[in-house]
Amino acid sequence: MKRLRYFVALWASKSAYILLRLLKRNATMFPGRVALKICPDYLAQTKKSPNVICVTGTNGKTTTTNMVADILSESGYKVVSNRYGSNINTGVATALTHSVNVFGKPKTEILALEVDERFSRLILPFIKPDYLIVTNLFRDSIKRNAHPEYIFSILDTYVPKNTKLILNADCLQSSQLLKDNEKVFFSIDRLPTDVTECVNLINDFSTCPVCDEKLKFNYLRYHHIGNAFCPSCGFKSFEAKYHLTNIDYEKQEITVSFDGKSDTYPMVNRTLYNIYNELAAISLMNEFGVDIKKVKDYLMKISVTETRYKEGIVGKTSVIRTMAKGQNSVSCSRTLDFVGGEPGEKSVFIMIDDLFERKDSSEFIGWIYDADFEFLNTPEMKQVILAGPRCYDYKLRLLIAGLPEEKIFCEEDEFKAVKLIDKDVSKFYLLHDTSTYDLACEVEEMVIAELKAFNEKGGEQK
Ligand SMILES: [Zn+2]
Repeated sequence: MKRLRYFVALWASKSAYILLRLLKRNATMFPGRVALKICPDYLAQTKKSPNVICVTGTNGKTTTTNMVADILSESGYKVVSNRYGSNINTGVATALTHSVNVFGKPKTEILALEVDERFSRLILPFIKPDYLIVTNLFRDSIKRNAHPEYIFSILDTYVPKNTKLILNADCLQSSQLLKDNEKVFFSIDRLPTDVTECVNLINDFSTCPVCDEKLKFNYLRYHHIGNAFCPSCGFKSFEAKYHLTNIDYEKQEITVSFDGKSDTYPMVNRTLYNIYNELAAISLMNEFGVDIKKVKDYLMKISVTETRYKEGIVGKTSVIRTMAKGQNSVSCSRTLDFVGGEPGEKSVFIMIDDLFERKDSSEFIGWIYDADFEFLNTPEMKQVILAGPRCYDYKLRLLIAGLPEEKIFCEEDEFKAVKLIDKDVSKFYLLHDTSTYDLACEVEEMVIAELKAFNEKGGEQK
């Protein structure tokens, strides 16, 4: 009876997918929802591919999962992932539907799944991953994710005991997960930009988890990312197997050492958080046994997906569009740090409203006081344009961060805001949210058109 119900769910799910595709509709969640409605234990009942790899964590899971899935398919494996779908249980159920034939037999060799950390309790115990990458654990949207320790407890409880973990030794939070599981760590060695005292507003891991003494840091990169030790009880960060020993921004290369060997890899993206994602993917590939040459060949070909980061040049201006997740103060701070630290004169256009909740109000604007907008307060910052209905909240935040008022421009309508940009600038950054991505692409096109017109007129401001 149980199996019959499973097959009805599977066929209904496959039919729903075909139907939606015929109607040219998005079919990433609904087929899974149908399956789970008919057969609530669909995730457990589905026969899995021989290898199941999952990626979770607060930031970087989409980029890392895509990299992992792509390297594996380039290496000749048949892979199903939820890259165009959702990372909650319904999206995973849809991916499972694709991974088996109508008789329920696996037709792929590898399932590579991005798993939402909060939903992991509804997913991981049933799909039992062989490998799990946890990119990091940070404070995220308070309404959705509460405190990082809450997310930690979910993962610590629901990750199966046989799952091998690939963890970030520099993340003091997630590296402490699952004491008894088999695991390997990756880390980035001390960088010239590292410090030993936290300069960020958020630091969710400042005391020793054993004796509560204030931790000391051999290096601290940002927030609680670094290498720590307790001066009183001997607690310290885990030793990594995979060390990133050098970042060469000029040659666009990173050096990774493991098992006594050092190798250089193409740098997929020069933001530090994406270098962590790449290092996580490289670590997993070696654990999985993929030929390192294939990994390098593939990394040479790719860049971080355009929904997250895009760079172009118009005349003398570099136009960089990058995601700064709203409600997620750490992710946003990482982007602000990157933008603020880039050399040269620049202007920034910020549109980080939560579009889904815009009709009523933003989810909770208090998060902007946890994000390090101070990084934008540099002499090279020519102007900051704040666009969208929340622009005045952002203006107040920037004033508190010390940015001179004459550098701040507000406009509730994103398209009208484009008219405010100073076109005589060498770098222009467009920061958007996940939900404002489509809108940001339209704004970007307008910006490019404005810059082209400006250049054609010989560089005179209107
Ligand atoms: Zn201690």
